[in-house]
Amino acid sequence: MSNREKIVVLEKDMEIQKNYIKQIKEYIGKSKKIPTACVQTFGCAQNENDSEKLKGMLLSMGYELGNEPEKSDLILYNTCAVRAGAEDRVFGNLGALKHLKRKKEDLLIGICGCMIQEEQVVERLKSKYKHVDMVFGTHTLHKFPQILYETLEQQHRVIAVEDSDGYLVEGIPQKREDPYKAGVSIMYGCNNFCSYCIVPYVRGRERSRDKEDILRECAQLVQDGYREITLLGQNVNSYGNDLDSGIDFADLLGEINRIEGIKRIKFMTSHPKDISDKLIETMAECENVCEYLHLPFQAGNNRVLQRMNRKYTKEHYLSIIDKVKKAMPNITLTSDVIVGFPGETNEEFLDTLDVIRQVEFDSLYTFIFSPREGTPAAKMEDVLSREEKQKNFQTLVDLQNQISKKKNDAYVGKTVAILVDGVSKNNPEMMAGRTEGNKIVNFEAKTAKPGQIVPVKITKAQTWALIGEEV
Ligand code: SF4
Repeated sequence: MSNREKIVVLEKDMEIQKNYIKQIKEYIGKSKKIPTACVQTFGCAQNENDSEKLKGMLLSMGYELGNEPEKSDLILYNTCAVRAGAEDRVFGNLGALKHLKRKKEDLLIGICGCMIQEEQVVERLKSKYKHVDMVFGTHTLHKFPQILYETLEQQHRVIAVEDSDGYLVEGIPQKREDPYKAGVSIMYGCNNFCSYCIVPYVRGRERSRDKEDILRECAQLVQDGYREITLLGQNVNSYGNDLDSGIDFADLLGEINRIEGIKRIKFMTSHPKDISDKLIETMAECENVCEYLHLPFQAGNNRVLQRMNRKYTKEHYLSIIDKVKKAMPNITLTSDVIVGFPGETNEEFLDTLDVIRQVEFDSLYTFIFSPREGTPAAKMEDVLSREEKQKNFQTLVDLQNQISKKKNDAYVGKTVAILVDGVSKNNPEMMAGRTEGNKIVNFEAKTAKPGQIVPVKITKAQTWALIGEEV
């Protein structure tokens, strides 16, 4: 059997799940009241996407969706494993549900997602969180209807965790959260094993969806009125490496760009080692691909990058940025940075500041290193104290704030296309939307309605947002 055949979940297996959906719907149909389910998401865009699938399945089973755990009949936590802090929050929240379960005996509590792929988490749930009814990991998400059916039918807890390299599943119903912006997973898993990251251990190996399935989903979204599609994957640049078709990410982007009526295409996340010249050219040529690139560099020093197992150097990263800027002079650039990676010295940290000065990112997602149990970096030795790391972090934030303000100042007087989200959160008299590069713009509207792409003249710049008026 080829590897592809091993990872694809067959239609007949999905039929079994559809049958469980039908049986739960019948079961619910016999009760007097429509039950409410509340799905809470902790984590990244992929997790959000998985939660939309969980909600889609729940709606097909006859549940109503709500946001208040206290008023729900089923509470489901879709968890993230990237940061230890997020895990502590999940355990805290789960603990607090104990008293709710005591008050409401037929309440069902489930937990799923990346955390569940960690053995010690499942052990802790088994021994200390006996009020949790359903425990399932990322590789068994598509079996949620069966898991829920067995929990309801047999009235005992179901634990469904598979230690595998992951599957490719098509045909799960999805309840989209936003009416104009949609995420489309193009691949799952990661092969990179950056030394600080838990993702390859909990999301399996890289597996690309078939091009036809992706194109079909994107075309349907456009037909349904979606304006912006974000292609999702842990490392979208290696899309197609596991396919025999010879298609790569640049080819896929080109084909999606040709879908009739598509307005904005974005993608995340990219790995610098896999960005090709072909991809940069394709981005520049395709009129519907946004001039926006989120390219995590993580650290500026080559010794630190090597310890991170990032497989590129500072010089290589800067050369990519150079090409990107030449091909798209107006591009919006963002990145992720880790401060205080084990072994990083104050001198090595200066290389990180140097990259920030040279590239001039529009904004940065910055983190002080926090170890994840089970990764090589968790066993590496630190040389800096917490205070020194905090000081470096603040230096970096101050520098980036100056650059962000300078980059935003350059927008004043320009007219930019804004995808309207709705009324501004800061000022109910104004509307808010996003530029191609994801910058927030609060503006005085004339005729603009949510979901429209309208021209807005920028009149004022702040560090985190732009102010303007519709023209
Ligand atoms: S590329 Fe590195 S940081 Fe990103 S998901 Fe893969 S292992 Fe984690």
